[in-house]
Amino acid sequence: MIEKEVFFIELSENSKLEERVAATRKIISFMKFENYISKKDKVAIKLHVGEKNNTTHISPEVIKTIVDVVKNIGGHPFLTETSTLYHGSRSNAIEHLSLAFEHGFTFEKTGAPFIMADGLLGNTEMEVSIPGILFKKVNIAREIMMTDSLVLISHPTGHLVTGMAGAIKNLGMGFASRKGKLKQHSSVKPFIKSKNCNFCGQCFKYCPADAIIEKDKKAFIITEKCIGCGECLTVCNYDAVKYNWGKESAELQKSMAEYALGAIIQKRQKCIYLNVLANMTKLCDCMDVNQKRIINDIGILGSDDPVALDQATLD
Ligand code: SF4
Ligand code: SF4
Repeated sequence: MIEKEVFFIELSENSKLEERVAATRKIISFMKFENYISKKDKVAIKLHVGEKNNTTHISPEVIKTIVDVVKNIGGHPFLTETSTLYHGSRSNAIEHLSLAFEHGFTFEKTGAPFIMADGLLGNTEMEVSIPGILFKKVNIAREIMMTDSLVLISHPTGHLVTGMAGAIKNLGMGFASRKGKLKQHSSVKPFIKSKNCNFCGQCFKYCPADAIIEKDKKAFIITEKCIGCGECLTVCNYDAVKYNWGKESAELQKSMAEYALGAIIQKRQKCIYLNVLANMTKLCDCMDVNQKRIINDIGILGSDDPVALDQATLD
C-alpha cells in the first residue's frame, strides 16, 4: 500500500467564517500549491455553490483565499461547476450561474470569473479513455480537460445514495457531462410519465436519437433507440421525464470513482484537493433546503490524493 500525505488544520467546534478563511490560508501554505501550479497555468477551482435554499455550502470568502494564492503564484484561476441532471436551480448554465452569483460567488467577492465546465446545457464534453473496469471511456465536461491544473474544494456531507459526498464524488459526478452523469446514475433509460406530459414537443426537438414518438397525444420514449443522453430531462418543464434511480449504491460509487479518474487522468500531478469539515449535514448541498449540521466542525483537510483525503475525512 502506498502511503499518502494528508494535511489537517483543526477548527473549533462552532467555527466562524474568519477562522475557516485563516485555516484555509494555513493549509495552503503547508501544502505548497506552487509545486502543483505553474505560472500562466489555467487553474480550475471546482466548488459547489449550494442549491437554492442551502446555506451550509463553502463560503465565497474561503474560495477567495484560494484564488489569491493561485494569482500570487502567477496562475489564472477561474471558478467552475457543471449542470445537474435533476431539476432544480442548477440544471443549466444560466440558472446555475445566476444562483452562484446570488450565493456570492461573484468576481467582486472571489476575484475570479465563473466558467461552466460543461457549457450551456451540460452537454459540452469530451470522451476520455481510462483503464477502468466498468468504463473504458468516460464523458467528461470539456473545459476541465482544457485546464492545466485543478484545485478541488469539497464540503463533505452525508448522501442519499453514496453514503458520503466528498472529493471523489465532487470529481466523478461533478466533472461528468450530463451524459456521463446519466451513465453513472441510471441503470435504465428514461421514460415518460404520461400524466405529467402536456405534449409541448420540446423533448422531440432536442432528442438527438429520434427516440421520442407520439403515443395517444403524449411523448413516448423508444428504449431501444435511446442513447441515455439526458437531453429530454433537461428540456422538459413539466417533470414528465423520469428515471429509475434505483441502481445499487455500490455500483454507482464504482462508476463515480472511474469518472473521477477520467477527470484528472491527464493532469494527476497538477491537482490539489481540500475538504472543509464544517457545517456538515445529513444530506448534500444539492438539497433545496436549509439543513442543520449533524456534527461539530472538525477542520480542513488537504492532499494531492482524493482517496486518501476522503478516507481521512471518514476517519
Ligand atoms: S418536453 Fe415534457 S411535457 Fe413536453 S412533450 Fe416532452 S415529455 Fe411531454
Ligand atoms: S435520453 Fe436522450 S436519446 Fe434518450 S429519449 Fe431522452 S433525449 Fe432522446
